Amino acid sequence: MIEITNISKWYGQFQVLKDCSTRVEKGDVMVICGPSGSGKSTLIKTVNGLEPFQQGHITVDGTAVGAKGTDLPALRARIGMVFQNFELFPHLSVRDNLTLGQIKVLGRSDEEATARGLQYLDRVGLLAQQDKFPSQLSGGQQQRVAIARALAMDPIAMLFDEPTSALDPEMINEVLDVMVGLAQEGMTMMVVTHEMGFARKVANRVVFMDQGSILEDSSKDEFFHAPQTERARDFLARII
Ligand code: ATP
Ligand code: MG
Repeated sequence: MIEITNISKWYGQFQVLKDCSTRVEKGDVMVICGPSGSGKSTLIKTVNGLEPFQQGHITVDGTAVGAKGTDLPALRARIGMVFQNFELFPHLSVRDNLTLGQIKVLGRSDEEATARGLQYLDRVGLLAQQDKFPSQLSGGQQQRVAIARALAMDPIAMLFDEPTSALDPEMINEVLDVMVGLAQEGMTMMVVTHEMGFARKVANRVVFMDQGSILEDSSKDEFFHAPQTERARDFLARII
């Protein structure tokens, strides 16, 4: 469903992505890990066109991301993205956060958008918070609203970039639980995370990056039990 083929990207002289290739099939849960600065965020953002790249190509469900003529807003509307810092609209209530994209981008009626938004808000356990503003919620609650907002758009895949790394420890699990549920329901997911417990539980693929390259792209069991590279072994030794 997501095909990344020989992607390279430079910031000036600095090559941030080096000939990266991988593919995500429908229903895959791919965890992307690696040291800080290895290019994980950059790679995941290329998938929905948030980061342009100079070489290679990416297709999502057959649509070429970098190509001229691709309707990027339409593509983005079909791919949910959840970031480290929640990125809710601070001036809108939870309910309006949930409905805005559905109304503006998908053209849904207010009623329909509200019904769908509240359905997903309920699913993440926050129906009672619908009138609050983001600043009145905990970090874990804000992140769950962000996930509900993305789901309300009926995405064909979800991208997560360290969704729990800005959270206090006691809030990490409430967000991971929602993500585990999604994974178990068959959502196609690419997840940048250091949460190896999540990876062990629901990932079927693990990609390990270092210095802009994909060094490992394997099944979960292979990655945890028989990593191919010294750098992945070092990384695992430090993180687990
Ligand atoms: P982290 O685990 O810290 O989030 P990461 O693996 O997500 O790291 P990226 O954010 O993708 O890494 O960054 C990869 C490299 O690209 C880093 O060395 C970073 O400093 C560099 N970089 C990122 N954005 C820019 C930019 N706008 N201009 C120049 N260099 C950048
Ligand atoms: Mg990052």
